[in-house]
Amino acid sequence: MLEQVYVDNLEYIMNAVISRFWEVKSLQQMSVEEWESLCDGCGRCCLNKLEDWDTGEIHFTNIACSLFDGTSCCCKDYENRFETVPDCVKLEPQDIANYHWLPPTCAYRRLEEGKDLPDWHPLITGDANSVHRAGISVQGRTIPEDGIGVDQYEDHLVDWVDKE
Ligand code: SF4
Ligand code: SF4
Repeated sequence: MLEQVYVDNLEYIMNAVISRFWEVKSLQQMSVEEWESLCDGCGRCCLNKLEDWDTGEIHFTNIACSLFDGTSCCCKDYENRFETVPDCVKLEPQDIANYHWLPPTCAYRRLEEGKDLPDWHPLITGDANSVHRAGISVQGRTIPEDGIGVDQYEDHLVDWVDKE
């Protein structure tokens, strides 16, 4: 599981839209605010995954972390999440090369791979809800992990997370 950062400051978004900082700075050169604003709030990284032990391939399920809100796609206790979910991953610029398991739509992965932000990204549209309207977020498509054993995860594999 993984850190989520949400863009909720309209003024900040609009300044970012104008400056297009992601086109002139590397991930490592960005300020904390710039780095965090790259997160589109899709929630894909909050889905539980299975890793193929032979190939290392990651397979996403529709089973979400216990702190995930499947409607807003926000973490219900982001500030204190590590107390409840100690294995939630905090994304750091210096570790980005290790985040190949992020979904292909994720801005961190895309920029690391030399791609641009997609048209629906909030930093392009100036609207935090554009990720939902574009059908990229997991909104309404998840079930909570509570009560589901790991041995049942194979029944919940989904392929839409791997699509852009
Ligand atoms: S997959 Fe990437 S863009 Fe989407 S919520 Fe996670 S960190 Fe943010
Ligand atoms: S604690 Fe869970 S819901 Fe919150 S950011 Fe981490 S993976 Fe996502």
